[in-house]
Amino acid sequence: MGLTGGCHCGAIRYEVEGDPLTHALCHCSDCRRHAGAPMVGWTMYPDAALRVTRGTPKIYASSKDGRRHFCGDCGTGLFYANAAMLPGIIDIQSATYDEPDAIPARIHIQVAERIGWMEHVHELPQYPRFPPHA
Ligand SMILES: [Zn+2]
Ligand SMILES: [Zn+2]
Repeated sequence: MGLTGGCHCGAIRYEVEGDPLTHALCHCSDCRRHAGAPMVGWTMYPDAALRVTRGTPKIYASSKDGRRHFCGDCGTGLFYANAAMLPGIIDIQSATYDEPDAIPARIHIQVAERIGWMEHVHELPQYPRFPPHA
C-alpha cells in the first residue's frame, strides 16, 4: 500500500508506490508563481510509481518542456513532468499527500531564486493558531 493524496476539492485523487528519489523544497520563481506560495515541496518518483485514481488533471505548459498538472476545478497544483530534463520522472507536490509527514523534506533547491526573507523564515515568531489581540 502506497501513499495517497489529492487536490483540495477531491476531484483528483492519486496513489504512489515506493520511496521517492528525493524530496526537495523548490524556491524557483516558476514554482512560486504557479503555486502562489513562497516555496513548493516536490517528491520525485519514476513515472510508473504514480497512479491517478480519480479525475483527470489539467496540464499547463509553464516552460518549453515543463508541464504542471493541476485540478481544473479547485486549482491545486499536483504534478510536474519535464520530458527533456527529467525523462521518466514525475514530481508530486508533497503538500497534497493525505499524510504529508510521512515523507520529510530532504533538501532546498533553486535557492538562487529564493525570496530574500525566506532564508531565515524559521526564526519568525510562531503561534499555535493566531497571535493574541493587542
Ligand atoms: Zn480539485
Ligand atoms: Zn521550482
